[in-house]
Order: sequence, then structure tokens, then C-alpha cells
Amino acid sequence: MTELIKKTASELIELMHSGEVSSVEITQAHLDQISKVDSQIHSFLVVNAESALATAKDVDARRKAGEVLPMLAGLPIAVKDNLTTVDAPTTAGSKILEGWIPPYDATVVTKLRNQLMPILGKTNLDEFAMGSSTEFSAYGPSKNPWDISRTPGGSGGGSSSVISSFQAPLAIGSDTGGSIRFPAAVTGTVGIKPTYGAISRYGLIALASSLDQIGPVARNVLDAAYLQDVIAGHDPFDSTSLPDSLGSMVEAAKAGSLAGKRFGLIKQLSGEGFQQGVRNRFAEAIKLITDAGGEIVEVDCPSFEYAIDAYYLILPAEASSNLAKFDSVRFGMRVTPEGNPTIEKVMSATREAGFGPEVKRRIILGTYALSAGSFDKFYGAAQKVRTLIQRDFANAFSKADVLISPTAPTTAFKFGEKVADPLAMYLNDIATIPANLAGLPGISVPIGLADEDQLPVGIQFLAPSYKDGLLYEVGAALESTLEGIWGKRMIDFAPKLEVN
Ligand code: GLN
Repeated sequence: MTELIKKTASELIELMHSGEVSSVEITQAHLDQISKVDSQIHSFLVVNAESALATAKDVDARRKAGEVLPMLAGLPIAVKDNLTTVDAPTTAGSKILEGWIPPYDATVVTKLRNQLMPILGKTNLDEFAMGSSTEFSAYGPSKNPWDISRTPGGSGGGSSSVISSFQAPLAIGSDTGGSIRFPAAVTGTVGIKPTYGAISRYGLIALASSLDQIGPVARNVLDAAYLQDVIAGHDPFDSTSLPDSLGSMVEAAKAGSLAGKRFGLIKQLSGEGFQQGVRNRFAEAIKLITDAGGEIVEVDCPSFEYAIDAYYLILPAEASSNLAKFDSVRFGMRVTPEGNPTIEKVMSATREAGFGPEVKRRIILGTYALSAGSFDKFYGAAQKVRTLIQRDFANAFSKADVLISPTAPTTAFKFGEKVADPLAMYLNDIATIPANLAGLPGISVPIGLADEDQLPVGIQFLAPSYKDGLLYEVGAALESTLEGIWGKRMIDFAPKLEVN
């Protein structure tokens, strides 16, 4: 069974299609791993063993009967707990939604069910996806399987650790400022934020609606491509979802190539202030790209300097408005103070008890930024920076096909290292945030281990909007070049998880 959990999703699909392995065997192997390691790693907030196995059995029976099944039928998956599911509580990592069972499935979840994929459970996240470490989850943090004294990144640390601890072959994440790509980088996994609107956000508990995007987390680029192909597409329930298909990501990944493409090295993100081991792996990746016939050009994106500042005004502004609906009346928790309290008192007692410190910080910041006297000074100014960042991208993409940078300035950090200092936590997102502000797609691909701590490092590729396929093409090519050099895959470097 250990062999099964070490396989990639693409390998598992083939094994099921050829009839060598059943979905029940694959699903059970992952459930066994969950029983073995998740008390330590804490990737899951809920495990749905029974319903996952029921789906797996159904798939096996239908396959046996000769039915033509969807591509990913029988392949288990884990889903970030800010996506609604009718059969499991959806908390977004917050006490305020503890035990809430939504009345509808997110469109992405519906698509997974239509594919007949067993849903193993819901993964942990920083409360309402605000954070970079899962330390802001109201249910306790997830651990990094490479070193359990370190965080698996955030907010999607549940979805990144679930893959790197072999508890699921695929997972779904959401990325508002880097919550798919940053956790992927620090856990040696692949994470993609598709073009804004490529995947329906219906049923995603909104953080910042102009930035949020759902995407795949996987063991390799091809696996992520399989997942993006089945969850993408227009959805009449999400007015921001794109009308047209972006094409097949699987085909793009299979056509992987670096030759003849221009790679824009972003001057502002080319390594200054980045950990030495991160810089070393990044420099090697650049050399491999040139060896494979890619051309490196430097691109200047001067407004990126203000990206974090703009993001931490726009995001809190949108979040403060999105979170107003958690008012003790419609969802989840209600705290009723003594006596005969007014509805305002009930709301405020509920929000005081239900929200954690980071959520409160951002609600206050966002409400202030949107208040009459501050709107132009803060929110308006941030929107102007957003336009400048979009122009920087347009300019960069006139010189390069794809942009590159390290995904994160450091490898995984230790618990407690940044949680008391919000600004230090916010700086992790320096390389990932610009893509959200511009709506364009980005991928993080593992490029080896840092010399000083032997922890995973990721490279980020960014492409113009709608060109997600390019990311899969270059990502898969670099990945296979690296595997050729290592003589093994990134997942084979992962520590043997015998934790109990
Ligand atoms: N770390 C970022 C933040 O705290 C990113 C969050 C996200 O992408 N959901 O806002």
C-alpha cells in the first residue's frame, strides 16, 4: 500500500484505467496513511472516510460493469475547508462557523463529485484564509511534513501538507495573495493559481473577491493539469467566471518545453533579501532554462515595491465587507449576552467570540480604509498602485513570454517565528501578491532543497492572463529536467513519514 500513496495522480489514473488497481485500494491506502500520520500533521479538519469509500466502491462497480467513466473517476482528493460541502462541516478555519453544514456544494465540489472522485475530507487553513502559516486556524496549525517544527505555509497549509505527507494524491486550494503557491513552495509540492475567473468561485467563502482564485495542489505538474482541466470552465453561478475555455492543461504539460521562450527575470524579485539557499537553487534553475534553449531577459517592475502595501489595503477592505455577513443571524455561532440584549449586542458579542486576532485586525483595517475620510487616501491610492502593477506586467510581457522569480523569500519557517509580527508574516507574499493584483496565472514548481536547512525551494512562473497552458508547459519541462539530474522525483526526497 505504501507504493500506492507514493505514486502520482497520473500514475494512479493509469493503474485504475488498466484495471490493475481499484479505487477502493487507492482510497483505503490514503485513509490508512491519514490514520497513521494526521494526528501529527493535522492536515484535515474533517475526514470523510465512509463517503470516500462509498464513492470508490461505486466507481469500481461501474468500471467492472464496463461503464465509460470520467477521466479522474476513483481518484481521491482533499478539499480546502473554505469550499462549501453539503455532507461535511465547512468552517473556513473559524470558530464562528464551527459545525456549519452548508446547504449547497461549491461548483468545484460539484465538479469533483461529477468526476466521481472520492472526497477524503476538508483541509486546514488560516482563519478565512488570512495568513501564511496556518497558525491563525482556530483549530490549531498544520505541520510541515519535512520538519514538524515548521509551518507548511498558508493559508492553504492543510492542502500542501496533505500532499507532501502522502495523505492525498491531489488537493484543492485557494489563492488570494499566494495561499496555493507559497505553501506549495515550502512543502516541495506543485501549486497553481489559475487566471482570475478560470475556475468558478461559487461556494468559496470569499476573502477578497477581486483577488480570490481556486486552484490545484499536486505532486507534479501533470497531476495539477489533470485537476485544472476538470474544475475549470464557465459557471453561470459566478458572474466573474470566464466565458471561454483556456484549453487543455494536460496537453500543455505533456508538450512541455523551455526552448525558444523568453523568461523575464523580475529585477525586483531576483533574489535580494532572499535566503541564500533559495537564491542558489533559483540560480541553478535559471542555468537549466538557458541550457534547454530558453532565453533569460531582465524585466523591470518598479511598482512591485508597493504591491504588499496595496494588497494589505485592498484585501482588508474587501474582507471587511465580505465578512459582514457573519452576523449571528444567518450562519453558525450565536453568543447571547446576559439580560435582554439588542441585536447589535448579540452581533458584536458573537463576532468578538467567533473571530480570531488576524481576522479582527483586518476587519478594523479594512473598515478604516473604506471610511469616508480615508477612502481616497488609502483605498483609492491602493487601486492606483494596482493599475501601475498591471502596467508593469504589460510592459514585462512585451519583452518576455513568462516571468520568473523564487516563489518565496525563505524556506519553511518555524512555529512562532512570525506569528507575533504581522508585517514579517505579510512579507512572505512579496513574490506571489502581484499576480493576484493583476489577475494573471502563476505556478510554483519545486527546484530542490536549500543548502543550509535541506528544505524545499520553489520557482514561480507567471504568464499573461488566459495563458495558463504556458505555465504547465514550462513547469513540466523544468520538472522533468530536474528529475533527470536528480535521478528521482521531488516527492522521493520527502522524509519517510513514520510519525505516529
Ligand atoms: N498570506 C496572504 C494573506 O494573508 C495570502 C492569503 C491567501 O492567499 N488566501 O492574505
